[in-house]
Amino acid sequence: MDSELLREQGHIMVDFIADYYRDLQDSPQDFPVLSQVQPGYLRDMLPNSAPDQPESLNELLDDVTKKIMPGITHWQSPSYFAYYASSTSVAGFLGEMLNAGLSVVGFTWQTSPAATELEIIVLDWLAKLLQLPDHFLSTGHGGGVIQGTGCEAVLVVVLAARDRILKQVGKTVLPQLVVYASDQTHSSFRKACLIGGIHEDNIRLLRTDSSTNYGLLPESLEEAISHDLAKGFIPFFICATVGTTSSAAVDPLVPLGKIAKKYGIWMHVDAAYAGNACICPEYRKFIDGVENADSFNMNAHKWLFANQTCSPLWVKDRYALIAALKTNPEYLEYKVSEKDAVVNYKDWQISLSRRFRSLKLWMVLRLYGSENLRNFIREHVNLAKQFEDYVTQDPHFEVVTTRYFSLVCFRLVPVDGDEDKCNQRNRELLAAINSTGKIFISHTALSGQFILRFAVGAPLTEEKHGRLYKNMPLNLPATAIVKNIL
Ligand code: PLP
Repeated sequence: MDSELLREQGHIMVDFIADYYRDLQDSPQDFPVLSQVQPGYLRDMLPNSAPDQPESLNELLDDVTKKIMPGITHWQSPSYFAYYASSTSVAGFLGEMLNAGLSVVGFTWQTSPAATELEIIVLDWLAKLLQLPDHFLSTGHGGGVIQGTGCEAVLVVVLAARDRILKQVGKTVLPQLVVYASDQTHSSFRKACLIGGIHEDNIRLLRTDSSTNYGLLPESLEEAISHDLAKGFIPFFICATVGTTSSAAVDPLVPLGKIAKKYGIWMHVDAAYAGNACICPEYRKFIDGVENADSFNMNAHKWLFANQTCSPLWVKDRYALIAALKTNPEYLEYKVSEKDAVVNYKDWQISLSRRFRSLKLWMVLRLYGSENLRNFIREHVNLAKQFEDYVTQDPHFEVVTTRYFSLVCFRLVPVDGDEDKCNQRNRELLAAINSTGKIFISHTALSGQFILRFAVGAPLTEEKHGRLYKNMPLNLPATAIVKNIL
């Protein structure tokens, strides 16, 4: 690692990336938002084996421009509105740089005390911004840990809850353990349960519909629990979601939490996307009831400008997590006195190695300040609202769910009540829009309907980027509509 080479080439790389962000805005025609390449495109462009001799950075960057960029879907484009955003920022980027530069592996306190201690402090800061209850803070029995992703977060809490219940009632009951969530819950929940040894048939994904805007009905949960108890099953986990992946639906935490408490069930709150908005007082109400949750997770890489990946998770009882995940190999032993008892984050996650992710979160919080972060989020929600207004004003379209945050779910309305044809027209419209490369939106299915999703969250998005749909001449076939408006 030659420090002068790093300085020289680091400058070149920063210039390359800064130019990329500039060009994404100034020359959008050069960057189809959804990559338009065919599968396997890269194989023909690159040699069959690694070079024997070193090549130059310039040669490599030339290949990035010519060969890699065509295969990039530009998540940072201002016209990116698919899935949920993966938000970046200068502060998040610099934090990633510092992390890559220091490259420490803070699996125990000793292996980089600052990595552990900063993570504890920054997650306490963020918990306070979210007004999480005190028991999630490091000063109580709980605490926060940065997982890589929301999928890892739900897995570790399922394992913690499973071990807690098995300790209470005996290991042989594993086949009787049941879990609950709505049918809108992210697919990672099912995966986590299967990894945790929960039988597929014991994963209850309770039906939701438009009458509750796809939020879980507490009565459905209580009924399912009573039914299972009567049959000898052991309910032990409920995953509630605030901001589902399909439509940003919100499960009502207050009544769900009461039920979880009544039956001694671990309640996890997955707020991967919408949790970020809850740093704004006006959105905090969506996590009212989190007081009764055992764990809470949000993805700061989705909507808090913390660059991939950064998924803060808080637990009410850190000892439950540690009991399930602790390892004690001799080669990791070190001495600290009882009174200095420290956190060893290896015992709060699946892997041993871990990145110093708190650096970038710390930098985002410090270099922007919470007031600016709140305003960024509000701006995105306003843009989504404007888009929703365009759609609402156009009789060819309908908005299909109540919008709470920055996601609009909409579709072309059926003609003569023909739902099959309507689904097909919406499918065609989606394909036609995305094939232009000028904008990227995604889709979902709700109540058997093919729904278009327009999610605002890319940091470069401004009002003009979302205005494309205004006054679409919708009596034309989908491809013609798109040609007409773009
Ligand atoms: N939960 C919800 C509600 C999500 O929307 C997502 C991703 O979109 C996840 C969990 C999974 O997050 P990750 O991709 O960080 O694993």
